[in-house]
Amino acid sequence: MSDVNKILLEENEIPTQWYNILADLPAAMPPPLHPGTHEPATAEDFGPLFPKALIEQEMTAERYVDIPEEVLDVYKLWRPTPLFRAHRLEKELDTPAKIYYKYEGVSPAGSHKPNTAVPQVFYNAKEGIAKLTTETGAGQWGSSLAFACAQFGLECEIWQVAASYRSKPYRRTMMEIWGGKVHPSPSTVTEYGRSLLEKDADHPGSLGIAISEAVSEAVADEDTRYALGSVLNHVLMHQTVIGEEALLQMNKVGAVPDVLVGCTGGGSNFGGLAFPFMREKLSGNINPVIRCVEPKACPTLTKGEYRYDFGDTAGLTPLMKMHTLGHDFVPEPIHAGGLRYHGMAPLVSHVYELGLVEAISISQKECFEAGVLFAKTEGIVPAPEPTHAIAAAIRVALECKESGEEKTILTALCGHGHLDLASYEKYLKGDMVDIDLDQSVIDEALSTVPDIQG
Ligand SMILES: *Cc1c(COP(=O)(O)O)cnc(C)c1O
Repeated sequence: MSDVNKILLEENEIPTQWYNILADLPAAMPPPLHPGTHEPATAEDFGPLFPKALIEQEMTAERYVDIPEEVLDVYKLWRPTPLFRAHRLEKELDTPAKIYYKYEGVSPAGSHKPNTAVPQVFYNAKEGIAKLTTETGAGQWGSSLAFACAQFGLECEIWQVAASYRSKPYRRTMMEIWGGKVHPSPSTVTEYGRSLLEKDADHPGSLGIAISEAVSEAVADEDTRYALGSVLNHVLMHQTVIGEEALLQMNKVGAVPDVLVGCTGGGSNFGGLAFPFMREKLSGNINPVIRCVEPKACPTLTKGEYRYDFGDTAGLTPLMKMHTLGHDFVPEPIHAGGLRYHGMAPLVSHVYELGLVEAISISQKECFEAGVLFAKTEGIVPAPEPTHAIAAAIRVALECKESGEEKTILTALCGHGHLDLASYEKYLKGDMVDIDLDQSVIDEALSTVPDIQG
C-alpha cells in the first residue's frame, strides 16, 4: 500500500470544516491594535475593510468553522487535491527517506490561493458587497481573487507590484480573462501611488505599497471591501483544508510525518498544511518537526524582529504583532515574488515564539536547483516559492542518506510554475544571482517601525 504514487480522496471526503488552531494553543495571541490609538482593534475598526462574517472568523476562538455549501461546491472544481509520494525523487537522491507532497497546483489559478479567495468572495457577496480590491505580487493572489469574483458576480480591482506587472504579462491576462481590472503599483489611481511616482517614475513597487493602494480605494467606497491573500487568521484557517485532506491521505497509507516543511511568504500555505498536524502534535498523537522555509533575501522569521508593525507601507492597516523586517523594507526582486513580504502571519509568528515550529532560510539558486531536479524526476515544474520547501525537503532526505534514517517527510507543493518560466530560463542560462542581504538594510527598515511595548 505504501508503494502508491498518488493518494486520492473522493469528492465527499473534502473536509466540511476549517480548523482554527487558536482554540488549541497553550498561550493567547497578542491582539491587533488600532493604527491611531494603539488600543486593541475592535470589530468596528475592521468594518470598512472586511465583511462581518470574515471579521468574526478573524476573531473567533471556535475550534471548527463550517464550510458553507456554496463554497464546497466551488471547491469541488479542483478539490480534493492529490497527495503524491515522490518515489522518483527519492530514488534520484538515493535516500531511505520517504517524501510526500500535497499538490495545490491543480486549482484554476495554479496554487493554494483559491482555497481562501472563494470563501472570502462568498461572504462579501452574501453581505451585498459589489466590488473587492486587492494587491498581488507574482499574480497568484490577484488571479485567484479574480477567479472567485467571477464565480459570485463581484467586480475585482487589483494592484499588481509594478516589477511583476512588467515581467509577468500572462498573469495579468489571466486576471483580465476572469474579469479583473489590473493596475501597476504604484499607480496613478491613488494619491499615495501618485506621490511615489513623483519621486521615482520607474518605482518597482512592493507588496506593502500595493496593499496601501488597495486598502485606500476600499475604505473610500461603501460598497467596496478589501481582500488579503495571506497573513490574517481567517486566511490561514481557510487554508487548513489542505492539511485536513493531507491527514486523511497520510492515514490511508499509514504514513506519519517525522518532518513537515513548507515555504512561508505570509504563512498561509504553510499554516494550511501544518496546523492540522500541529493539532495532532499538541494532543500527543504524532511528533513531527515542523519547519518554515523562507528566502535568504526576505528572512522575516530568521532575521526579523517580533514586534507590532503595519501590514502595509503607508501605515493604514491595524498594527499586528508579527515577525517583521519593517514595513518600509523593500525586498530585492528575487524570483519567488510570493515570498517577498516584510511581515509574517501573526499566527505563524506566535507559534514560532512558542517553539512549536522552526525556521530556516535558503538562497534562490539552491531552490531553483531543487526545482529543476524535482521537475526532472516527478514531472511537475514547481512555482519558485515552493522550490524553497522542496530544497529543504531534499536537505533532510540527504541527511537521511548519511545517517541511514528512514524519515517520512511531508511538504506542500503549493503551486506550479507554468507562468514562471522566465525565472527558470534565467536559472538555466546561469544568469541567476544569490542576493546577500546586509544587516544594515534590515536595521534601517526596522528603525521606522513604531515603538510599541507588548
Ligand atoms: C502566494 C504564494 C505563496 C506565499 O504565500 P503564503 O501565504 O506564505 O503561502 C507561496 N507559494 C505560492 C505558489 C503562492 O502563490
